[in-house]
Amino acid sequence: MSEQNSHLVCPHCQATNRIPAAKLSAAPNCGKCGQPLLTGSPHELNAQTVRKVIQKMRF
Ligand SMILES: [Zn+2]
Repeated sequence: MSEQNSHLVCPHCQATNRIPAAKLSAAPNCGKCGQPLLTGSPHELNAQTVRKVIQKMRF
């Protein structure tokens, strides 16, 4: 598989972060404000959850 980046909008400062797919499951932090990009249940985070979050943010 090739490297894929996802764009996550920080829920705290609205900065767009480009996150490599491999790092999505590692609860990445915002590059601007340093807060977690994925809030909720970081321990139960999986690919499906991430996909839902991304879809929501695209909307
Ligand atoms: Zn931020």
